[in-house]
Amino acid sequence: MTSGRVVLVGGGPGDEDLLTVGAVKALAQADVVLFDRLAPHRRLAELAPHARLIDVGKTPGHHPIPQDEIEKLLIQHAHAGSFVVRLKGGDPFVFGRGGEEVLACRRAGVEVTVIPGVSSAVAVPAAAGIAVTHREVSRMFTVVSGHAPLNETELAGLAGLASTIVVLMGVSNLPQITQGLMRHGLPASTPIAVIERGYTIEQRSLFSSLDRILYDAATAGVTSPAVLVIGEVVAFANREDPNSAFVLDAAASLAPLE
Ligand code: SAH
Repeated sequence: MTSGRVVLVGGGPGDEDLLTVGAVKALAQADVVLFDRLAPHRRLAELAPHARLIDVGKTPGHHPIPQDEIEKLLIQHAHAGSFVVRLKGGDPFVFGRGGEEVLACRRAGVEVTVIPGVSSAVAVPAAAGIAVTHREVSRMFTVVSGHAPLNETELAGLAGLASTIVVLMGVSNLPQITQGLMRHGLPASTPIAVIERGYTIEQRSLFSSLDRILYDAATAGVTSPAVLVIGEVVAFANREDPNSAFVLDAAASLAPLE
């Protein structure tokens, strides 16, 4: 073990009000912060006043640092004796490659801990007034990555579960996912919502049904990052109050997602 250490911190889905107290404390003590595009980073210099801030995510015209390089940086800074915060969007263990980073640190003999975060899988639907479970409507929710197309077994399983389906990274595979679910038996009228850039001033929610969503999404020009929610719970969303989109009373602190 070296004197430095790494803490993986979940930053929540965009707004710094969704940082945990533990996350804020870790940032305040950090010597080095490696952060992603989807992690809240607008006020990072204030939250981590002693830290060197390293952007390892995608920014326009700038390529992201490859995963193995990120792991090397974490280890290198910890070996040099630093308290390193790896700040990630949402929760570090939900499609965040947090597991790989923990293993890399352990293999290198670096002490590593994890502070969980508010995941977009649950919080972004909530930002659009959608409860992923609703008594007598849905007693389960399944979170799936849409980064790669879903295979037939996955589509059949999802369509047969009667679960709320939450898809992250699903914008580019929206056609494959929605057509596949209908082919495996989900009714064409099944409600679907697409919530873009949750907890930012650019948040936008699109409500539709499986058979109309491709047309509606194309018309609206839906882009990433967005969460897809499929299932009857979507019909229970609170859509009457235009301000209900923001479940936090923090509109003033909302920032554009870069
Ligand atoms: N670890 C993260 C997820 C990383 S995968 C978490 O727990 O939230 C990245 C995907 O998360 C995006 O493609 C998008 O589907 C979703 N996402 C993250 N932040 C979001 C936001 N503010 N608004 C909408 N979707 C978001």
